[in-house]
Amino acid sequence: MLLSIANVHKSYGHIHALRGISFEVAEGEIVTLLGPSGCGKSTLLGVIAGLEEPDIGDIYWDDRDLRGLPPHKRGFGLMFQDYALFPHKNVQENVAFGLLMSKWHQREITERVDEVLELVGLAEYGNRAVATLSGGEQQRVALARSLAPGPDLLMLDEPLGSLDRTLRERLMAELRSILRQMEQTALYVTHDQEEAFALADRVVVMNQGRAAQIGTPQAVYQKPANAFVANFLGMSNIFQGKVQDGLIRSPIGDLPAPDEAEGTIMLLIRPDIIRLDGSGPKQLQGRVLSRSFRGSLCRLEVEIQSHSLTFDLPSSVTNLPRPGESIVLDYDPTETLQILAQ
Ligand code: ADP
Repeated sequence: MLLSIANVHKSYGHIHALRGISFEVAEGEIVTLLGPSGCGKSTLLGVIAGLEEPDIGDIYWDDRDLRGLPPHKRGFGLMFQDYALFPHKNVQENVAFGLLMSKWHQREITERVDEVLELVGLAEYGNRAVATLSGGEQQRVALARSLAPGPDLLMLDEPLGSLDRTLRERLMAELRSILRQMEQTALYVTHDQEEAFALADRVVVMNQGRAAQIGTPQAVYQKPANAFVANFLGMSNIFQGKVQDGLIRSPIGDLPAPDEAEGTIMLLIRPDIIRLDGSGPKQLQGRVLSRSFRGSLCRLEVEIQSHSLTFDLPSSVTNLPRPGESIVLDYDPTETLQILAQ
């Protein structure tokens, strides 16, 4: 592993921003830190960049201990949402700035600037004043500037946060392909699940200064480890239940228990693995409270035993039930019911 973070704590007065977080980043890997505002993402980046010192914990790059090493000696690059290009310099000068500071030779600077501008699709833009560029183009200049020195690790803090949705989606795809092409090891901070999943080889889901789950986007989505992660990913059908005689006694009735389940458990009823075609093998009965169209999905709020549950069905399903109608939901317990860690 290249970057290794172990049991890092950081407090500001009585605010415990990082509470023992550990994870690793391998060479060429893109890892995203995903979590709600205030969970410690920026603090963690600051600690890795050397802008903050951890109270305790280890930070290694290969076998080099980074604690106490000033930011400019770490060889890392940072790109923020507020990327602050120099408004009076042109594109080329903005991208060249860090290289000049690091005393590169002029010929190498020119070559490198051309190379990274080509990479971000701005080969013809070198002489343009940055003030004349669109938001998306400025973002690409900022990316070119942070890539130019060839940082060992590139850290990106919500870099697409200020852009509109269409542009964000396009830049997300571009960014991924650029980072891949450069084999750039990267740490990407976002509160946006879609962005995190689209970019990452692995995601670290953060909650209150700790890693709530670490895994590939698929693994995290398919098997959220605990109620926090499930909720954060928009899966809210979570109930406490008790396993007795092969059944989960739950507030919405008795449900089949997986073999390994015992005692008091936290149960997730997945909103996305459900059918209406009578195919079973098990069924839940309820009444539709509301129905909302979300593009490719249609979200149903369903009352089951006085509890409100949410289910997402493909909008292409014919005869989607209307509010007030009774509904029979088909499910396979092995797919739809998941036990969460408490
Ligand atoms: P995120 O980036 O996930 O939004 P932050 O790392 O910015 O979270 O913040 C984590 C917690 O630490 C928050 O409660 C925040 O208010 C607090 N915090 C961050 N920086 C400072 C600081 N310089 N002084 C005091 N509290 C801070």
